[in-house]
Amino acid sequence: MAINATEAIETPPRPPSPVHRFGTLAVHAGAPHDPHTGAVIQSISLSTTFAQSSVGKPIGEHEYTRSSNPNRAAFETAIAHLEHARYALAYSSGSATTANILQSLATGSHVVSVSDVYGGTHRYFTKVASAHGVRVTFTPSIELDVEALITPETKLIWIETPSNPTLSLTDIRAVADIAHRTGIMVVVDNTFLSPYIQNPLDHGADIVIHSVTKYINGHSDVLMGVAAFNSDDLFERLKFLQNAIGAVPSPFDCWLAHRGVKTLHLRAREASNNAALVAAALEASPHVLAVNYPGLTSHRQHAIALKQHRDGLGGGMLSFRLRGGKAAADRFCEETRIFTLAESLGGVESLCEVPGSMTHAGIPKEQREAAGVFDDLVRLSCGVEDGQDLVEDVLRAITKAIGTSKGAANGVRNGHLHV
Ligand SMILES: *Cc1c(COP(=O)(O)O)cnc(C)c1O
Repeated sequence: MAINATEAIETPPRPPSPVHRFGTLAVHAGAPHDPHTGAVIQSISLSTTFAQSSVGKPIGEHEYTRSSNPNRAAFETAIAHLEHARYALAYSSGSATTANILQSLATGSHVVSVSDVYGGTHRYFTKVASAHGVRVTFTPSIELDVEALITPETKLIWIETPSNPTLSLTDIRAVADIAHRTGIMVVVDNTFLSPYIQNPLDHGADIVIHSVTKYINGHSDVLMGVAAFNSDDLFERLKFLQNAIGAVPSPFDCWLAHRGVKTLHLRAREASNNAALVAAALEASPHVLAVNYPGLTSHRQHAIALKQHRDGLGGGMLSFRLRGGKAAADRFCEETRIFTLAESLGGVESLCEVPGSMTHAGIPKEQREAAGVFDDLVRLSCGVEDGQDLVEDVLRAITKAIGTSKGAANGVRNGHLHV
């Protein structure tokens, strides 16, 4: 969806709108009252086709639902505003978003990517993009290496910040400055922070993408993706592919995700505050070897968080290493009562997992450990439950996992007590 000219926000550098701050935009962008009924909430428009008054003249804005429909348009408008973009396009998943962007590159193109990208992105780059002649080079230190890795064929630089699951950060501006000298586009996967905490386009990125499945929808009940950007040329290319490939979300999913957007600021802030409490408690625990959380002053790239994240917030995701190896990490995830042992992230409910055995099991052990993904690493997605309850849950599960309270079992067996 393109934001119409009167609403368009200039291309960066651009100050935030003085009138519509994030929370107001989250609630109102793309959400006008129905002009006929006054309904404050948009109806779900299930019609796959739209009547035309004469040949080639649709009555309204839409013709056929794959090309555009009212619920997708409303969601795309909301995301364009929240990411300070002129355009946003929604897809059936975060992975389909990645696929559409990679499909827009000509055969023979080269991409430079950070090493610890989302597993599915790594799979697409190495197993699918390569099959249509797009080559991807991975680097663990992109700010240092990018210049040397750029070739005349390089068309795209792919950044995920914070990275998964080690939460290391990339200075988007530093990379974009180098990329733009030779007209290379920078894509930032902003899934881990959501547009509330980070707006990559303001730091020089050309495209920002999200797995909407995570924070934007936020309720673990929709699979969807979105890309946002400012360039008219990109809009033409990506809009064409969105329709031609057809990996688009349903009107119902768009409606649900748009409902999620309206509380994004409340959820992202609370999740981040909760993660900060949990991270501080973990850092103080004698049973914890290391804590990866960008909101901690001890994080080695905390300065980037202060520069790129709203109010220096660390987001809702963190990871930590337990003394006691893989057995302790596994046991921890089986002992928590509020954190549910499951993959995914960004929902209202807290989740925990062991990346080495779950989300990142597909990566060979040496490669994994070189990236900091040891078998004793636990990843947490903090939800919006009470922060003190989350801290107590984590500390209690650590005590059980480390075995210092053997015999003190209090009646709740292994597993999760859903509160
Ligand atoms: C989940 C995720 C994706 C893929 O999104 P899907 O909606 O599951 O296809 C991409 N990037 C990141 C960082 C993710 O967490």
